[in-house]
Parts: sequence; structure tokens; C-alpha cells
Amino acid sequence: MAKNYRAELVGVFGDPIDENPTGVMEEAAFAALGLAWRYLTVRVRKEQLAGAMAGMRAFGMRGVNLTIPHKVEVLKYLDELSPAAEIIGAVNTVVNRDGRLFGENTDGKGFLKSLRDSGADPKGRSVTVLGAGGAARAICVECALAGARRIHILNVGRARGEELAATVREKTGVETLYSPWQGRAALPQGTEILANATSLGLYPNVHEKPDIDYEAIGPGMAVIDVIFNDPNSLFLQSAKAKGAKTINGLGMLANQGALNFELWTGEKAPLGVMEATLRAEFGL
Ligand code: NDP
Repeated sequence: MAKNYRAELVGVFGDPIDENPTGVMEEAAFAALGLAWRYLTVRVRKEQLAGAMAGMRAFGMRGVNLTIPHKVEVLKYLDELSPAAEIIGAVNTVVNRDGRLFGENTDGKGFLKSLRDSGADPKGRSVTVLGAGGAARAICVECALAGARRIHILNVGRARGEELAATVREKTGVETLYSPWQGRAALPQGTEILANATSLGLYPNVHEKPDIDYEAIGPGMAVIDVIFNDPNSLFLQSAKAKGAKTINGLGMLANQGALNFELWTGEKAPLGVMEATLRAEFGL
């Protein structure tokens, strides 16, 4: 039988990129399924994206992830967007479908899968999101598309918070409110799912947590963190102490990686392998 030394290529373009752990988890998944695929972690500077996207096509790469600073800029090189990516206005995953580039945003979808796997479907629920940056944007849009009853955004920067609330409200029809966040924030009445989508608590700042009224958290509430390199973040510890169900960001990252894997290869992702690889990578 003729040998085939060629690998199918995917990867990530970003800058900075050295500490991005996605490749380790994707390569572990390829190995687990015996696929001759490689995931390349590539530093692409802001002004080099056009060349990188042309190169991606020239290499016949099956897809790429995009991270800082390319998630919005990449839109101009794509042929088609998923409905969620269209509303979010940012893409973290590109799939090369026979030369047509399709853009998806799996940040919020990984979040949603983590919630659902923990029995906390946002459908019909009142969701409070702390933060209004890229992760919060994806999370709010996915929760709205998943049928959340109400979304409440708390953010320190007013303009960013108001703009996100207006976008979600107008594009999805779901009641979406913004509240300013100065000092200790009160939790909006009726919160059933609470998500930290700020960068507070990200390693090495493990002593930080969002300044909110933790006394208002109670049993029956699901509390989820985007921070992935500390599954026992102070935020989650505080929520757990109040009896809430807690869900860490490691699962969100693994789920996001699994969705990318499935979009690219068409195979079912070995989620357990991917999550275990991340844990080992973070020394957990
Ligand atoms: P951005 O920089 O876009 O947004 C950061 C957000 O954090 C903003 O809303 C900002 O508020 C808020 N914030 C920062 N410092 C404070 C503070 N002291 N008090 C209150 N709010 C604060 O970042 P991203 O949205 O891209 O990422 C956020 C986090 O999500 C990161 O830790 C990232 O690693 C994580 N992430 C995890 C994923 C996963 O799969 N687990 C996927 C994607 C991201 P303001 O607007 O006022 O500045």
C-alpha cells in the first residue's frame, strides 16, 4: 500500500500565543483517534493576518482558531458566518470547507455545553453575566439564543456594558439589561445562573475575585467561572460556601476544543482525553 506522510493541518493564529494551551489538547485528541492531523501554534502579528489567511488557504489547512488580536479582523477574510458569530461580531474558529471559509464562535458554545452537562440549561432562566468583554459577549449571545428568559450584565465600563446589552436585546429579542458596577455589586433579583466572564482570578492573580454580594448566592443557583487554569477559583469557592452548584472554566475550555475538533474532523471528540490533558498541562 502506498505510504502517506502528509498530515491534515489546523492551528491557531495569535499574538501573544506562546502560552496558548489549545494545541496540546487538540493533538491529544488526534492521537487518541489515530488521526494524522497536526495543530500548529503560530505567532501571527496584527498586521500579518492577511498573509496568514492566504497562507492558510495555500497550505490547504482544514481550519484555524483565532485569538488576540485577530478575532474581529478575521471576518473580512471569511465567506460565511454562523448566526451566533454574526451577532457576536467575532470568530474564534474557521473551518475550510473545500475552499469556502466558514466562521464560528465556539467560546459561548463551550460555556453552554458545560452548563447543560451540569444540568443547568439556561432555557427559561434568568442569567447574570459579570463582564462585557469578548468572553461575556459570546456567553450572552449563546444564552439568549438558547432561550434564556432574561440576561443581566454587570460591567465596570459603562459604554461596553450598555452596547452589549443593546446588541443582545436587538438581535435576539431577549430582555437584556445593563447595570453599572461600582464597588460591591448587588446581585440582580431572581438570578438563577451567575457567570464570571471577567478576567478576575486568572492565574497568577488567584487571590482576586469579582466584588459582588456573595451573601445573595444560595442553593438552587448555578455559578460558573470562565477562568480555566484554576478550577477552584476564589469566586467558585465563595459560591460553593453558599450552597450553589459550581462549574469551572476548565470544562468550558475542553468543550470549546471538542466543538472545534468536531467541526474540523467530523468525528466525535474524545472529551475526557482533552480535559485530562488540560488538567495535566495545568498541573491540576
Ligand atoms: P476582555 O479583556 O475582552 O474582557 C475582560 C472583562 O473583565 C471586561 O468586562 C472587564 O471590564 C472585566 N474586568 C477586568 N478587570 C476587572 C475588575 N477589576 N473588576 C471588574 N471587572 C473587571 O477579556 P475576555 O472576555 O477575552 O476574557 C475574559 C476571561 O475569560 C479571561 O480570563 C479568559 O482567559 C477567559 N476565557 C475563558 C475561556 C474558556 O474556555 N474557559 C474562553 C474565553 C475566555 P471593563 O469592560 O470594565 O474593562
